[in-house]
Amino acid sequence: MEKQRRIFIQKAGLIATSTALAPSTLWSVSGPKKEKLGVALVGLGYYSTDLLAPALQMTKNCELKGIVTGSPEKIPKWQEQYGIADKNIYNYQNFDQIANNPDIDVVYVVLPPAMHAEYTIRAAGAGKHVWCEKPMAPSVADCEAMIKACRDNKVKLAIGYRCQHDPNIQAYMKVAREQPFGKVRMITSAAGYFDGRTTHWKQNKALGGGVMGDMGVYALQGARLATGEEPISVLAQASTTRPEVYHEVEETMMFQLEFPSGARAACHTSFGINMNYLQVNYEKGWLKMEPHSSYGGNNGSMSDGAIINFPLESQQAKQMDEDAAAIMNNTDLIVPGEEGLRDIRVVEAIYRSAGDNCIVKI
Ligand code: NAD
Repeated sequence: MEKQRRIFIQKAGLIATSTALAPSTLWSVSGPKKEKLGVALVGLGYYSTDLLAPALQMTKNCELKGIVTGSPEKIPKWQEQYGIADKNIYNYQNFDQIANNPDIDVVYVVLPPAMHAEYTIRAAGAGKHVWCEKPMAPSVADCEAMIKACRDNKVKLAIGYRCQHDPNIQAYMKVAREQPFGKVRMITSAAGYFDGRTTHWKQNKALGGGVMGDMGVYALQGARLATGEEPISVLAQASTTRPEVYHEVEETMMFQLEFPSGARAACHTSFGINMNYLQVNYEKGWLKMEPHSSYGGNNGSMSDGAIINFPLESQQAKQMDEDAAAIMNNTDLIVPGEEGLRDIRVVEAIYRSAGDNCIVKI
């Protein structure tokens, strides 16, 4: 058993490293071959500032070359900190001119979710590869339009699901594939934090707010990735304890999923509660992770005594290096647009279920 456990850990480790291959000469993007892809961040809020820009400094295959912002007062600090050239700075009006900028290979959309489709489609139209933050977009129709725009313009579209690049999450995806404990019976997953803000886009319906898209997708992904299946029905209930803040969108969503194999999931997400865990009960064992979808330190254990605890310097750096390698080598992305769409199909069904107070078939 000890030997088996070590093999499990080593194999999962192999998955983690083999996807971060160095770029090869196969890179077929037009223009001269580069050692690193130039990335432009669109939207310089929390995630770009605190996580993505610092992580880009840790990547092997990417360089932070450009920014797109509607806030000119942010520009001097970004130029000073990251040495961004004047010619690589855009606003939302002149953004399409990025088409003529050979420094920029990838546009990373880090805006409120309702703006993801517009900027993804404009970036694809400019001939740039697109990385788009989660949730992919508020509707299935938007996601499909984004996928089509990237396909039509022959550029790649990756969704910023950093967890799927984390070897700790890949470890339980491997359990789903190999079924060492038999089939999944029941999953419990939760993703939430207390958000004390009162006037943010996360509370604004028109901008794509609501906890389901923001944090709920982590609980949903936990269930989808732990089964390796797509849910066939959902029953959901939305609630709020702060109606003065959460009157347009839900503060909390609880949802149950049914999978084709018969597995069931009870998932919870909230802007009012700190929670971050996954438990999977199989026919012959269990797996627990806590934290499950943090930026780092995700870890867990299994009923046979195996420990899931891969060190990882930066999820975001690994994500961007792997996505860049997929572009350079023209290989499959770990999280393509189609994967973002799968979540949004379920999210739409969850909202229908909560609104109509009934089970919705997917
Ligand atoms: P944020 O509010 O901190 O930043 C949003 C940015 O969009 C700001 O720079 C803001 O100026 C700009 N913006 C442009 N037009 C706007 C408008 N009409 N209203 C509001 N802002 C506007 O948000 P954030 O936390 O950086 O989130 C941005 C995206 O990144 C979201 O899709 C979010 O889900 C995602 N995100 C992902 C992770 C992750 O772990 N993958 C973590 C945090 C955020």
